[in-house]
Amino acid sequence: MTHEAPLTVRAAVLQRPGAGLRFEDLTLTDLRDDEVLVRLVATGLCHTDISFFNRPFLVDRPVVLGHEGAGYVHAVGSSVHGLSVGDPVVLSFDSCGLCESCTRDEPAYCHDFVDLNFVAQRRDGTTALRGADGPVRHAFFGQSSFATYSVCHPRNVVRLGDDTDLAMMGPLGCGFQTGAGAVLNVLQPSKTDSLVVFGSGSVGLAAVMAAKALETATIIAVDRLDSRLQAATAVGATHTLNPAGIADVVAAVREITGGGAHRSLDTTANMAVLRQSVEVLRPRGVCGFVGGAAAGTELCVDVRDIMMNGKTLRGIIEGDSRPHELIPRLVALYRAGRFPMNELIRFYAFEDIDRAISDSERGDVVKAVLRMPD
Ligand SMILES: [Zn+2]
Ligand SMILES: [Zn+2]
Repeated sequence: MTHEAPLTVRAAVLQRPGAGLRFEDLTLTDLRDDEVLVRLVATGLCHTDISFFNRPFLVDRPVVLGHEGAGYVHAVGSSVHGLSVGDPVVLSFDSCGLCESCTRDEPAYCHDFVDLNFVAQRRDGTTALRGADGPVRHAFFGQSSFATYSVCHPRNVVRLGDDTDLAMMGPLGCGFQTGAGAVLNVLQPSKTDSLVVFGSGSVGLAAVMAAKALETATIIAVDRLDSRLQAATAVGATHTLNPAGIADVVAAVREITGGGAHRSLDTTANMAVLRQSVEVLRPRGVCGFVGGAAAGTELCVDVRDIMMNGKTLRGIIEGDSRPHELIPRLVALYRAGRFPMNELIRFYAFEDIDRAISDSERGDVVKAVLRMPD
């Protein structure tokens, strides 16, 4: 370990559900042999962060959220290999490396995904951050990036090239990876296929960009905000539909695609929309869905339609990503001008996090990215 403890970490801390964020100077108490300390330059704001603000999930202690961090390796534990101080990195979700899914190289389905990403503490229940009033939870999605430093593990730290525009890369760790990975890893439309994407937020638009990169013939974006549909067109959608002005979205898709779409992706977590995502498919079509519905949510679908038409309904976490493969692939596409994520990003100063959140909730910004102070 090469950092000099104690280290001060400026963080936006959620004191309790619904309380709002408060900036605090925390102390990093220790860094373990298997951990990596990253000095963040920026972090994206993901809908999942916002959805956790009001959950009675992490009630016993204050917590640092945030999970689209990008920065430079500041220190590495003695058992960490393959990362060095100064490396530019993107942070992604964490996984155990030992379970059946991880050994099959499917870390997004790690059997310990919830413990490692949502509980926001080390597995032994300790935390490396301390505030004036006591311990503060970290390790949300293995990173807790609403802070100037993150304590991570090598499995969720992805090294990038030295010439990368690092401040823009954080959303590759979750939102962009989720949408793009759903298309590149799971749906894999051919050049003659049609794809319908329901929802044109950052995840849906990343899916549109990935489909465009695959030269998919017909890419239909569906959203209730015309500004989002304009963004979808700008990054590759061939058609757009606003359900507010259409009597029957399913019929409209069938007309555009000549009998139904080959592939569909629902990013809305709205069960009525997910049902439509299944209904718009032609025989043998595949529907993927990535929206974070609450536990216990039930879906009503016509089972006969799925059976008789051989349709597939597939849940997808983090785009089925192996982050160390997918994130560099997306960076390469971005640099080639084929994944124009810069068009979706608006930068905010870290201190303006509340404004970034309200702009995101209103739909005024597709992907807010918070820049850390130098
Ligand atoms: Zn695992
Ligand atoms: Zn996320």
